[in-house]
Amino acid sequence: MATGRFAEVGDGQMQRDGTPRQRSQTTREPPEHRASQHTASQHGRERRGVSGDGDPESTAEVERRTHRQTERQMLSGETHYVWGHRFRLDVSRTSGNPRVVPSSGTLWVIAPEGASAEERFGVLDRWYRRQIKATVPALLERWQPILGVTASRVVVRRMRTKWGTCQPASSTIWLNPELAKKHPRCLEYIVVHELAHLHERSHNARFVELMDRFLPDWRARRDELNEAPLAHEKWTARQ
Ligand SMILES: [Zn+2]
Repeated sequence: MATGRFAEVGDGQMQRDGTPRQRSQTTREPPEHRASQHTASQHGRERRGVSGDGDPESTAEVERRTHRQTERQMLSGETHYVWGHRFRLDVSRTSGNPRVVPSSGTLWVIAPEGASAEERFGVLDRWYRRQIKATVPALLERWQPILGVTASRVVVRRMRTKWGTCQPASSTIWLNPELAKKHPRCLEYIVVHELAHLHERSHNARFVELMDRFLPDWRARRDELNEAPLAHEKWTARQ
């Protein structure tokens, strides 16, 4: 089943072309702060020695990494990750046309001269979001027919405690832009996980059965996703 192209709508939202653009009340905010059975930690019972409760959608790791990231100074020499690859940040190039260019282990974040750390971070953050948006349509096109479900909307939005979440009632999926720092198989895992929630809201035995059937290596992907982040040290400081 073709998923069509996705048009950007408002703040980080994607929506299938041709569908109404108004935002519904029910999907305005990701349900991360609502009591939701599907954030329960059934998976956590199988986890060992991993931070958080083991649910890929509500791991403390995301929060810690996101929090740490806001403390980054966006200075040349910092380590940043793109799709699981390690890059050395370089902010020495400036331009009125802000952009991000990964090249040979260097992540060029090019911002206007005199840009603040916050502005540089914004340039990089928007780029990470675009990475997700550019990748998700092909994943949906592949996996929706396999699972026999269709997400009506996918929203890329920073969440403090979740890699992704799903609101089955509106068939809406939220994805954390932090996923663009991990290997693409991690994003694929989260997409399949959230699509599976369109069949089964909670992390019960049926849900695990669905995941085992559709993505047999999902546990390895989950563990990779929740691995402790590699050091954020400056490369110049390694010893
Ligand atoms: Zn889940």
